[in-house]
Amino acid sequence: MKVLAAVKRVVDYNVKVRVKSDGSGVELNNVKMSINPFDEIAVEEAIRLKEAGNASEVVVVSIGSSKSEETLRSALAMGADRGVLVDTGDTNIEPLAVAKLLKKVVEQEDPGLVILGKQAIDDDCNQTGQMLAALLGWAQGTFASDVEVVNATSAKVTREVDGGLQKVLLKLPAVVTSDLRLNEPRYASLPNIMKAKKKPVAKPTLADLGLSEADIAPRLEVIETRAPETRSAGIKVASVTELVEKLKHEAGVL
Ligand code: AMP
Repeated sequence: MKVLAAVKRVVDYNVKVRVKSDGSGVELNNVKMSINPFDEIAVEEAIRLKEAGNASEVVVVSIGSSKSEETLRSALAMGADRGVLVDTGDTNIEPLAVAKLLKKVVEQEDPGLVILGKQAIDDDCNQTGQMLAALLGWAQGTFASDVEVVNATSAKVTREVDGGLQKVLLKLPAVVTSDLRLNEPRYASLPNIMKAKKKPVAKPTLADLGLSEADIAPRLEVIETRAPETRSAGIKVASVTELVEKLKHEAGVL
């Protein structure tokens, strides 16, 4: 069984995001970009499935500008076998468009399992995996904290849901989205980073995938992006009496 993992290039999670001065979005110039952390977990899971003998090949897919090749190389350095880059230039590609593109790649690659991150940390949409499963008409196991391939036709997924864990048995092929506790991704070693440079990355065009610009055109218009209000600094109090006094008379919460 082939496993496909989707990886998105996003602002590195350590970067303090700044809003552009005209409010049109987030500043991306000279900002460190990395593989979306949940996608790193998705790739790790795919590689572990291969190492356990449950997968024959791990293919990683990214959609975005040509710079997303860097993201694919990071996944290849972790141990994925080959990459697919759909270069859509600098335009923002919304989850539905990503799902449509991934569906086409899935139809060409014919994987038994597709693993995505539960969400991309830039837009926090948490939509793409669900939309992809719906477009394909496949089963989905979202927010996965455990994936066990039972046999060639089914997989057991433990889902992190509000208030507990839910186990679902999925008919394969299926879509899984990774949650934080699914695994701890490995670091790529230097030799593997070097090897990854030589691994194949296919670059199908929209036309190769049977789609047009209109199919992936944005449906949302960003009206404004605003940074959160800055919080005023706290104060130190000398005693509990003073704290209660302030909560009563200044904050008005008691
Ligand atoms: P989202 O629905 O935007 O929160 O993204 C959920 C997941 O879909 C991500 O963690 C990725 O695995 C996948 N995904 C979203 N956008 C892209 C993209 N441009 N390229 C590849 N995978 C993506």
